[in-house]
Amino acid sequence: MKGWTGKILWVDLSRKSFSVQSYDAKLALDYVGGRGFAARILWDHAPAGVDPLSPENLLIVAAGPLTGLPGPSTGKLVVASKSPLTHGYGDGNIGTRAAVEMRKAGYDAVVVRGRAEKPVYLYVEDGKAELLSAEELWGLDTFTTQRRLEEVHGREAGILLIGPAGERKVAYATVISQEGRSGGRVGIGAVMGSKNLKAIVFKGSSEPEVADKEALRRLAADAYREIKRKPAYAFWMRQGTMMTIQWSQENSVLPTYNFSEGVFEESSSIDGFAMEKLKVKQRGCPNCNMTCGNCILDDEGAVSELDYENVAMLGSNLGIGDLRKVARLNRLADMWGVDTINLGAALSYAAELSQRKLISERIEWGDFDAMLRLAEDIVEKRGLGAVLSEGLREASAKLGGADFAMHVKGLSISAYDCHAAPAMALSYGVSPIGAHHKDAWIISWEVAHGRFEYSKKKVERVVELQRIRGGLFETLVACRLPWVEVGLELDWYVRLFNAATGLSWALSDHVRVADRIYSLIRAFWVREYAAEGRGWSRLLDYPPAKWFKEPLTKGPLKGARLDPLKYDEMLGYYYSIRGWDFRGVPRETTLDSLGLSDVKDELKKYIQLAS
Ligand code: SF4
Repeated sequence: MKGWTGKILWVDLSRKSFSVQSYDAKLALDYVGGRGFAARILWDHAPAGVDPLSPENLLIVAAGPLTGLPGPSTGKLVVASKSPLTHGYGDGNIGTRAAVEMRKAGYDAVVVRGRAEKPVYLYVEDGKAELLSAEELWGLDTFTTQRRLEEVHGREAGILLIGPAGERKVAYATVISQEGRSGGRVGIGAVMGSKNLKAIVFKGSSEPEVADKEALRRLAADAYREIKRKPAYAFWMRQGTMMTIQWSQENSVLPTYNFSEGVFEESSSIDGFAMEKLKVKQRGCPNCNMTCGNCILDDEGAVSELDYENVAMLGSNLGIGDLRKVARLNRLADMWGVDTINLGAALSYAAELSQRKLISERIEWGDFDAMLRLAEDIVEKRGLGAVLSEGLREASAKLGGADFAMHVKGLSISAYDCHAAPAMALSYGVSPIGAHHKDAWIISWEVAHGRFEYSKKKVERVVELQRIRGGLFETLVACRLPWVEVGLELDWYVRLFNAATGLSWALSDHVRVADRIYSLIRAFWVREYAAEGRGWSRLLDYPPAKWFKEPLTKGPLKGARLDPLKYDEMLGYYYSIRGWDFRGVPRETTLDSLGLSDVKDELKKYIQLAS
């Protein structure tokens, strides 16, 4: 096989043992890499109903056939596991030197099981692996840990690590790299913490063998040039995703006061133009020429890397209109290793509980000090913070207010209000990891194509986007933003893949892989919920009740809310395109046609399947 290293490193922390799996071509051809590998490995090797924080759960770090090779934004990897937040399939991607170094060290993926007796970190270099003591690192924040490990292993090492939130198993603890690159908001950091695994360090000196090195090099150089030629490139380089604050405000989708409104009175204080006035540097992922990590100094004078989701969730959604204060919350979240979207959603939910007098704590919108104290309590697991550290689904079961706990399947909604965006609401509802925008960011298309409609065309567009965003890019593994934001054509990625692997695939071949992975991931959710006795129903694919029941009270779309019956019709059509039954469970025939007959046989042990 060319393009792939063909090797997966398996690590058992309980037994302190390692083994190298030379996987066969079928895995590569059926699942490509990244999310595809992670989903298949989890299905095959995680015991059904496994406790996500038990030693038996798996932590998977997976690259794809483009990872680390020449080509736009290929410095990414996927971290995955059964999620402690949702109890279903969970993954996230991170742009990091670790992606490049893992492949140079000779592996496409690393799978970790077991639990170390004492804190350790995994060191992988050129086909060798060892466990080293992390006792002196335990308790340190992620920035300090990164620097300590770089002192030992050099600045060129690729490092994935956790902070105090992961160590304390906050359900939405993330994996952090390079002081601000974060991924795995479904709680992958907590899975690492449960295994007493503080970090993974990669160093390598070989390159994955590719089919046509010269063609790949030329294609990559042309693709980089093409990105720079795109009209949207210049403004992207100024603001990156921060330009979305202004767009969201203008289109009434900026999450405000716990997703009660789509406009924020102080949006211009936290938008891309406000950021530009404070910008001190720009950072990015490896192999990327459209670096979007815009850094400012926060109100304590420390560097904080901003993007749209962080600023919306920790700014407008909390009623905080001071960008330097938002930046402090954002930096602390990165240092603790906790997801900014879930954190913002937990704080805004608590503030709404307080306004409605459902809790005794007083938290006003915009009260930065109160929000900061509660954020610290979440990471320390103290008082109300301890309840919120379990995620919105668990917290609302204890505190009430389920209608305004803004999550799907336990994962909090990322930063787009959907009172007047039914397709975006659907994409949150049927995302394979819980409410996340990664798989089908349809909001800009929806705003441009009749946002109040509930049409078949919109559902078809959600599926189309899932196939590309959640399929192609999550398996290659490469960043989707050159395509999304400046319009680099998809054909570039297909050609890069073919040059690396020697295959002659068309985009439709990648789409078929994507469909296989979506049904496999859905089968995993259904199996895990059945095995845990949670049951499965289509209501799990519904967005939060607030968007159906409580209309917007401000802005140009005042009065707008979602229609439950029309939403349900769209959901039914989505299931029919996917070949899933009325519950959202893959049909027998669907699994057979996708080459998942073995999955069908296993799934039938847990739930009756429609033919
Ligand atoms: S566009 Fe941004 S997120 Fe994507 S690879 Fe480049 S720096 Fe990373």
